[in-house]
Amino acid sequence: MRLRKICILGGGTSGWMTAAGLSNKYKSLGIEIELVESEQIGTVGVGEATLPHIRFFNQSLGIDEREFMKATRATFKLGIEFCDWGRQGDRYIHPFGDYGEPIDGVDFHHFWLRLLQNGHNSRLDDYSYPILAAEAGKFQLPGKDVSKIGSNFGYAYQFDSSRYAVLLRQYSEKNGVTRTEGKAVKASRDPESGFISSITLESGQTIEADLFVDCSGFRGVLIEQELETGYDDWSEWLPCNRAIAVACETKGPSVPFTRATARKAGWQWRIPLQHRVGNGHVYCSEFISDDAAREQLLSTLEGQPLSEPKQLYFKTGKRRKLWNKNVVAIGLSGGFLEPLESTSIHLIQEGITALIELFPGKSFETSDAEEYNRRMDLNFDRVRDFLLLHYVATQRDDSEMWRYFRNMTLPESLQEKMEAWKSRGYLLRYEQGVFLPPSWVAVMAGQNLIPDGYDLRVNRKTLDEVVSVTDTIKQQSKIAVTQTPDHAAFLAQYGAAAEMGAG
Ligand SMILES: Cc1cc2nc3c(=O)[nH]c(=O)nc-3n(C[C@H](O)[C@H](O)[C@H](O)COP(=O)(O)OP(=O)(O)OC[C@H]3O[C@@H](n4cnc5c(N)ncnc54)[C@H](O)[C@@H]3O)c2cc1C
Repeated sequence: MRLRKICILGGGTSGWMTAAGLSNKYKSLGIEIELVESEQIGTVGVGEATLPHIRFFNQSLGIDEREFMKATRATFKLGIEFCDWGRQGDRYIHPFGDYGEPIDGVDFHHFWLRLLQNGHNSRLDDYSYPILAAEAGKFQLPGKDVSKIGSNFGYAYQFDSSRYAVLLRQYSEKNGVTRTEGKAVKASRDPESGFISSITLESGQTIEADLFVDCSGFRGVLIEQELETGYDDWSEWLPCNRAIAVACETKGPSVPFTRATARKAGWQWRIPLQHRVGNGHVYCSEFISDDAAREQLLSTLEGQPLSEPKQLYFKTGKRRKLWNKNVVAIGLSGGFLEPLESTSIHLIQEGITALIELFPGKSFETSDAEEYNRRMDLNFDRVRDFLLLHYVATQRDDSEMWRYFRNMTLPESLQEKMEAWKSRGYLLRYEQGVFLPPSWVAVMAGQNLIPDGYDLRVNRKTLDEVVSVTDTIKQQSKIAVTQTPDHAAFLAQYGAAAEMGAG
């Protein structure tokens, strides 16, 4: 039998992304979708940096990129600049794209490693078009000619996520999604299956559904408060548990990248939008007080703060099951890993895609839920390992937090990955997981974790040949950047809101 009604609890970014994604697929199939949200509770109100995959989500909905950029005050993002991570004073960019290109079937970084081992002091970054463009404050859309350097990179957005939720609400309502204002205070369960049959709002209104998507944020109203699913606490590996966030005035043209600067007890983000800069200090309460964390943030703002700083509390980890009975948790209700690599909105997207692919019939096959949980567990595990890499591939030991990471037992999956890299620059490939080999190269090489060896196939070329072929790529990347417009100029003609600078 077919499932007839879906109730989405929560109207933050995850609730409206889910409503948009599901209504796009199911509007013609007679499946009713109702979203319940409470203005009194509100949303978490942060989350501005994204990964390139969001473009495909928007494209699948048929959202025009220019309209999206205007509506959400978005800027383009070519990667993340990491400052002070490997050592204080170091910096590198994790780009959305490859370094150079494979030569005779061998990944480019092996050629760079051979250069290093032969005393050539060349920066890996110089072989990446998106890094050089980001450093020069330039941007253009990838070209259509895939043989050209300026075509082979990804990009994402830095945007106002509450405006994105508004855009998706309009989209979803056009697709027939109904929105109900109110606070859910009770859930009723089927006595045999334990499935949730309805939720009741403070007003007394009852909403029945076959499938409930819990997008209620950190509270996890259905997945945790009602079903008591349990939480895998990853604080042992990712101990940062608080953040303080504030937007400030923009000074100068917006750059096409996010910045993450390591601090003594955490790290600080800088995300430039069209009309403001988002800032936040993520920290571990064991190593710094709230007052000191706030002071650290406010003393390093480049412009006047635009509001009172917002304090946030979290515990890194994920629900033991993201799909439990007839409840699927998407967004913060399913788990949270700190926003160092802008992964939360991406994990929302993964959750929606997996739900659509494994969409249940009314009988809710156990195998669908198991497959969903297997996929999402892997996605979370991979992100956890990648985030932890930033803290452990470091020479820093100048504060309690950095010393804590020095003495840590790593998850086996990360340990294996780092060892394979360290011996000969080899990258274990995953079947599931958002970060592809170039991302791992960016962080490991960027934080001075340099392999002892490289792929021997590189030695099929003489050193002079390696120098020549790598120099060509470097020159081509440099030239492509000189032909790229300034990010601010490109934005102004492509996607700037009419009143740039307005809030
Ligand atoms: C410090 C920090 C920085 C972040 N930075 C980024 C970033 O740069 N990039 C990124 O991708 N992500 C980031 N995130 C994550 C991002 O903010 C969230 O993933 C995203 O906003 C989705 O949140 P949500 O919709 O799951 O929850 P929320 O925004 O909390 O929304 C929850 C919704 O549920 C409703 N609700 C709750 N309880 C009830 C109830 N009982 N009845 C009715 N309604 C209810 C609320 O009203 C609200 O509508 C960050 C998160 C934090 C904490």
